[in-house]
Amino acid sequence: MNILDIINKKRNKLELTKEEIEFFINGILDETIKDYQISSLLMAITINGMNVEETINLTEAMKNSGDIIDLSSLSRVIVDKHSTGGVGDKTTLIVGPIVAANDVSIAKMSGRGLGFTGGTIDKLEAIDNFDVNIKMEDFKKQIKDINIAIVSQMANLVKADKILYALRDVTGTVQSLPLIAASIMSKKLASNADIIVIDVKVGDGALMKNVEDAKTLASLMVEIGKRNNKKIVCVLSNMDQPLGYAIGNSLEVKEAINILKGSKEPNDLYELSVTLSSIILSLALNITMEEANKKVMISLENGSAYNKFEELVKYQKGNIDNIDSEAKIFSIKAIESGYIEKIDTEKIGEIVRKIGAGRYTKEDKIDYSVGMILNKKIGDFILKDEELLKIYLKEKDVKISEILNCFHFSVHAIEPINKDKLIIDIISDVK
Ligand code: URA
Repeated sequence: MNILDIINKKRNKLELTKEEIEFFINGILDETIKDYQISSLLMAITINGMNVEETINLTEAMKNSGDIIDLSSLSRVIVDKHSTGGVGDKTTLIVGPIVAANDVSIAKMSGRGLGFTGGTIDKLEAIDNFDVNIKMEDFKKQIKDINIAIVSQMANLVKADKILYALRDVTGTVQSLPLIAASIMSKKLASNADIIVIDVKVGDGALMKNVEDAKTLASLMVEIGKRNNKKIVCVLSNMDQPLGYAIGNSLEVKEAINILKGSKEPNDLYELSVTLSSIILSLALNITMEEANKKVMISLENGSAYNKFEELVKYQKGNIDNIDSEAKIFSIKAIESGYIEKIDTEKIGEIVRKIGAGRYTKEDKIDYSVGMILNKKIGDFILKDEELLKIYLKEKDVKISEILNCFHFSVHAIEPINKDKLIIDIISDVK
């Protein structure tokens, strides 16, 4: 077998065998296949696709390229929650504690920000001293003790994804459904939870820009999960505007804390967090969605979800009383009156990254306190000179026009993205 034949085969739109896919992944790991050959095959896959069988085989080979976590010694059902990435998405900080407060164990390995999207690990590091690098034994002990751990992905997990993702990022091959499905699912399978709930973001501020692609991706991931005996549900949720009002690490942590303390605002963040938590609890506890929803409400109302968040922070050595907030705050006013019709969400994510909330190189240091708090969202009416948003700046600057250009107004009333439009679909094999 040689890599050139495999590249030619995919270029000619033929199906790759399990053995050929394994040969490819092994060659990446032992460096016998060169970066330009890997890139060439990635492009052939991006253009000509992969069928379900090939995608399952790729996922399996990638999963086996590193350690596979074994949480069986904990003798309990373990859940995992994942988001394909968006702007202002801080649901993990809310869903994790709600689930754990209801006596269900959530073992979560999260990522840092990627491109214009934020990452849970960066958000948690906005909390003074919060430790995201936990050893495997301590990770297990923490789950046993308090039902929740949120840590940075361990270095030895799915080694092939690290190499492939870095190359995809610079070769125009990120936007391939089989490559995305295999990348996400190999990591989920290596993390090895029994129940996996994936929030597939759709819209301007997401990787998936349209519902059709998001449904295809979700169905593919559900099939991969099913073949691996996992209970898996994909929730398609709208990302045509930032989730909640806060974008930027410490601002997002504070917004998440407000929801955990019982606030129902921002309503989209509240609704999505409640839906994801209810799905997880209904699967883990074998109860109906109505019963699960009731449990979620109770844990938000009686303070147990917030207490669990405090417990999590303390266990990972963080100081909840000290969340970075040193930025200067500027009010940005609307330059015309009207209903907000559209928000360029990807561009908003890029602006927040540019003012220091994200990175351009691995070595970049994040300014945790910078970001934005929106005052208005799609469907809201705003008067000229009324406050549209607040921007939090520290060292880096941004032109006001660049921000204002992200908001589009209409003289006609616009429907807000209410719960029906927020949760687009739920794709699952779980009966
Ligand atoms: N998230 C991942 O982990 N991998 C992808 O390919 C896309 C989003």
